[in-house]
Amino acid sequence: MEHARRPEGRIHFAGEHTSHEPNGGSMNYALESAVRVLLELSGS
Ligand SMILES: Cc1cc2nc3c(=O)[nH]c(=O)nc-3n(C[C@H](O)[C@H](O)[C@H](O)COP(=O)(O)OP(=O)(O)OC[C@H]3O[C@@H](n4cnc5c(N)ncnc54)[C@H](O)[C@@H]3O)c2cc1C
Repeated sequence: MEHARRPEGRIHFAGEHTSHEPNGGSMNYALESAVRVLLELSGS
């Protein structure tokens, strides 16, 4: 869900519900989202 992973100011959102895969529902998607947020925070 595009809107669920969009940062809101300094607040970044992670978790399976922010995955690129609709209805992801696994720890893989949760971890994928964590990597995405780390890249966002590092400016990559
Ligand atoms: C019974 C079951 C079995 C599963 N088996 C597997 C499996 O074998 N393999 C697999 O890959 N996945 C499995 N999953 C899915 C996996 O558990 C999830 O995909 C993963 O935990 C999602 O991680 P997350 O960090 O996005 O969310 P969560 O692990 O749900 O973490 C969210 C956290 O936020 C906290 N929270 C919620 N609201 C608030 C609030 N307002 N303020 C503060 N804290 C809040 C919650 O208490 C929770 O600790 C299973 C799920 C279930 C229910």
